Amino acid sequence: MPEHHEVVIVGSGPAGLTAAVYTARANLEPVVIEGLAAGGQLMLTTEVENYPGFPEGILGPDLMARFREQAERFGARFVTADADAVELTGRPFRVHVGNEVHTADSLIISTGASARMLGLESEGRLLGHGVSTCATCDGFFFRGHEIVVVGGGDSALEEAGFLTKFADKVTLIHRREELRASKIMQDRAFANPKIEFRWNSEVIEALGDDKLAGVRLRDTATGEESELAVTGMFVAIGHIPNTALFHTALETDENGYLVTAPDSTRTSVDGVFACGDVQDHTYRQAITAAGSGCMAAIEAERYLAAHS
Ligand code: NAP
Repeated sequence: MPEHHEVVIVGSGPAGLTAAVYTARANLEPVVIEGLAAGGQLMLTTEVENYPGFPEGILGPDLMARFREQAERFGARFVTADADAVELTGRPFRVHVGNEVHTADSLIISTGASARMLGLESEGRLLGHGVSTCATCDGFFFRGHEIVVVGGGDSALEEAGFLTKFADKVTLIHRREELRASKIMQDRAFANPKIEFRWNSEVIEALGDDKLAGVRLRDTATGEESELAVTGMFVAIGHIPNTALFHTALETDENGYLVTAPDSTRTSVDGVFACGDVQDHTYRQAITAAGSGCMAAIEAERYLAAHS
């Protein structure tokens, strides 16, 4: 027998857990399908210094544990498994999790996005220890350092520019000799004296045992290898929204992000709301994700009240 709920939340980063706190406090008894990699991208971060309310900073996993505890305190329930499929054409909505089926009058999607990574073993090992995917989150730690940014799109140039506020030198490593980024971002980067460019180069190894000490590069034209001593490597080669479950069911934009109505978390299906990085490719911050999670909860509550 399927378990029926007024609200099911899929995803458990700052957006999903904020939606859980709000819907739980509204007595909607939400169930959070938190996923096997529960907690979202903050679980891959070390120190979080820009989340308001924590003047001394807090570790990403600790912050997410607190979010979860707060949601549980008000009665949110958690299913520690991935959602395998959703059916959004009929009512109630159906969410398949292994052998279980959860039915829901409203659905909040907060499955987040994943930073695209180079896929190197050393990159994964040093993530949070010199390797980062978020300049806004971690740039501050590189005051006075020499660092690299990998990528040639708008994100890479934006991050490189932002990081020159802290780092003494930022070397942008791009696999081709032409940037993908927009002209205006290119002009800005070329005019920045703190940014250097390494063309036709790819990172083949992040060096260091427990913290980053450098990168090994390969020239994509000649195959020649070299090393660069740096303490930071920001990987900015794009993000992948986690929308595989919803591709045919909900409207997505050209980059795969869920489309929500302006100033709202409403998706293309009535009663289905999306919050956090799965629908936001602009801000991508824990605090903005949490804010949109609150919006989704309030919109779900109003939707349920109007349809009860
Ligand atoms: P993107 O435009 O897809 O660029 C990704 C970059 O990473 C490309 O230069 C690509 O190289 C490189 N790359 C991809 N896989 C790689 C790999 N395995 N190894 C090395 N390099 C790799 O992604 P984005 O920069 O995140 O931008 C995404 C979207 O958001 C774009 O539409 C962008 O315009 C927009 N955006 C806008 C702004 C802004 O306007 N302020 C800021 C950020 C993002 P190739 O060029 O060789 O493919």
